[in-house]
Amino acid sequence: MDFEKTISELYYKYGSFNVRDLVNNNPDLLNALIDDLKRLTGLSFNVANGLLGYSRVRHLGSTGLGSIGYNRRSYSSSYARKLVVEMLDNIRTTTVVSNTGSGNYVPNANLDEINLDEVEGEVLQNGVSSNLNPNTFSMGMILLHEWGHTISGGQYEDVDYDNNGNAIDGKNEGFNELAHDYNRIRRQMGRYSLQSWRRRKTYNLDTMGQTGYMAMNRTSRRRILKTYYRHRPFRLPSHSKFIKIP
Ligand SMILES: [Zn+2]
Repeated sequence: MDFEKTISELYYKYGSFNVRDLVNNNPDLLNALIDDLKRLTGLSFNVANGLLGYSRVRHLGSTGLGSIGYNRRSYSSSYARKLVVEMLDNIRTTTVVSNTGSGNYVPNANLDEINLDEVEGEVLQNGVSSNLNPNTFSMGMILLHEWGHTISGGQYEDVDYDNNGNAIDGKNEGFNELAHDYNRIRRQMGRYSLQSWRRRKTYNLDTMGQTGYMAMNRTSRRRILKTYYRHRPFRLPSHSKFIKIP
């Protein structure tokens, strides 16, 4: 047994966040998720008995050099760290299930189960405009979003509703992705990134022909709506920030 690993495992805290299905069926996705969570939170992560644990101790030794930047808390998001600790420390068991090719979602808000689909994740990451950091829709961000739909995450809905029960979705600055402000994570991460993470402006895509667009800043949203309602030829200025879904 590797001594460094044994020592560091003493510092990991395991709640009841169950990733057993990923260990058995989709270890690549699990590794990608852990990389994302490290980058977002600056914490270290480990899996034991199918449970995901975290450590606030700086991870030194065999992976120390390779993880510089990850484990520098100053380069991560304090808000992501707060959410991830809440997620992993929770007294409720949340189970993550591999759902390759079939979508990222919580099948039942009362079940504490999260289905993850790295194929859908790739479509989002590949669709970011060249001036955006693809990690703005990393699997780690998607995991946090989906967790917001579970009981332990708060059973939040994707959009807010006005007094008449109509969905408020990107029509004003009040839009938040669930009630957890994931845009706050994007803002904090963007400070340390050469490419901006920007802020998601809508839940639903604006569809132009066969192509869906998700605005990632206000001017892009305005331009997309103008094109949509006035049937103008679709052209976004080069500084626009958006995600394009073919
Ligand atoms: Zn959602």
